[in-house]
Amino acid sequence: MNHRLKDTDRCVMCGLCLPHCPTYGLSRQEGDSPRGRISLMQGLASGRLEADDRVSAHLDGCLECRACESVCPSGVPFGRLMDEARALLREQRPDRPALPGVARPMLRGGATGRFMAGLLHTGQRLGLAGVAGRLPGLAGKPLGRALALLPAKATPATPRGIHTPAGDCLGTVQLFTGCTGNAFEGRALAAARDLLLALGYRVEVPPTQGCCGALDLHAGKPEATRRLAAGNLAAFAASDAPIISLNSGCRTQLREYAALIPEGAALAGRVRDLYGFLMEHEDRLFGEEGLVRPKPPEHRTRRVAVHLPCTLRNVLREQGAMLALLRRLPGLEVVELEGNDRCCGAAGAHMFTHPEAADALLSPKIEAARRQAPEAIITANIGCSLHFQAGLRRAGLEVPVMTPAEWLVSQWQVSSG
Ligand code: SF4
Ligand code: SF4
Repeated sequence: MNHRLKDTDRCVMCGLCLPHCPTYGLSRQEGDSPRGRISLMQGLASGRLEADDRVSAHLDGCLECRACESVCPSGVPFGRLMDEARALLREQRPDRPALPGVARPMLRGGATGRFMAGLLHTGQRLGLAGVAGRLPGLAGKPLGRALALLPAKATPATPRGIHTPAGDCLGTVQLFTGCTGNAFEGRALAAARDLLLALGYRVEVPPTQGCCGALDLHAGKPEATRRLAAGNLAAFAASDAPIISLNSGCRTQLREYAALIPEGAALAGRVRDLYGFLMEHEDRLFGEEGLVRPKPPEHRTRRVAVHLPCTLRNVLREQGAMLALLRRLPGLEVVELEGNDRCCGAAGAHMFTHPEAADALLSPKIEAARRQAPEAIITANIGCSLHFQAGLRRAGLEVPVMTPAEWLVSQWQVSSG
C-alpha cells in the first residue's frame, strides 16, 4: 500500500455517503461513488490497478465537493485522499492533462495573471460570452466554455495598494484577491474594501499575491501548489494582520497551507472569512446608530436566494456568518436556494473539464431559481457565481448573481465610522 493513501483503510464500506454524492446520483455507477473511488485508490496504491483511462475517468470525475467527508462516520479524509490519488495518477501518467490551457496563465497571478484577466475583460467588452458557444470550432471546447462563462456585465479592475479609512483607524487587514477574483471580482473586492474602510480598518491589497493553489492541487500537482503557497507567504509577510478572503474555495486552500509547507501554519491562522469578521462588528454595522442604513425602498431588493458553496458548507462550515449578516437587514427575505445540499457542478476546473456533468448538476438549481423567483442569487464563491451566471443566461433568466458584500453596498448606504 502506498503510504500516502493509507487513510483509505478507514473506510468501512458502509455506503452511508452514497446518497450524498452528486456524481453517483448522476451515473449510479459504483466507480463514481465515494466508496467506489476509495476502492480504486486502494487498487492503485497496492499496484493491483493501473492508472488506465477507466480508473482515471472515475477519479477525475469527482467534484471534490467533500459531501461524502462531511457525513462519513469513520472520518475518512476524502478530499486529501483524492488529491493524493490524483498526484499518484500523475506520477504514473505524467502526460495526463492538468488544467485547461486557457485557465493556466491566469492562475499564476502577478503580471501574467493580470495580462490574462485583461484579455478576458476585452472579450467581455466585445460581447464574446453571448456568441462563444455558437462559434465554429469553439463549441464544447475549453476556450469556448471559458468565453461563455464571462460575466455579461463588465468587471471593474481589482483594488490594489493601501487604502486608509477616513476617520479613526481600528487596525489593519489584508485582502486576498486570488486569481479568478483578480479577473472577475473587482466589484466584490471593492465592496469588501469599502465595508472594511467604513468600519475603520486600513486595507492592504498585496500586489504580488497569486492563486491559492487549489486548482493545481486538485489536478494532482502538489509541487505547483507549494510554489504558489510560498509566493503568497512572501506576498503577505509584511505584517501579521488578518487576511480577509471572500471566496470559500480560496479560503479552504489557504487554511490548508499548514499541511503543505513548513511555514504555512502562520499564514493559515491569519485567514478570516469576510462575513465572520464583519459580524464581529455587528452592532457597529447594524445597531441603532449603525453604519449601514437603508436606501429609499425603491432601490432595495426584497427577496434573495442564497446558494451555499460546497467548501463553505462541507469543509469550512462558515455559512452561519454570511446568513446572519443578510438576515440582519430589515425588509429582506432571505431564502436558501432549493438543493443547497448538492454541488452546483462548478467545482473548480470541473466546469471546463466535465461540461456535461457540470451543466446536469446546475440544471435543477436553475429550475429552483425559476420557481423561487428571487431578485438576486447570493453566493460566496467565484466559480459557483460564474457557472450560475452562464446557466441563468442560457435559461433566459435575468437574475443577478452577487456576493453578499456586493449586494449590501449596492442596496444599502454604508457611511464611514
Ligand atoms: S467513505 Fe465513510 S461513509 Fe463512505 S463508505 Fe467509507 S466509511 Fe462509509
Ligand atoms: S467529493 Fe463529492 S463528488 Fe467526490 S466522491 Fe465525495 S461526494 Fe462524490
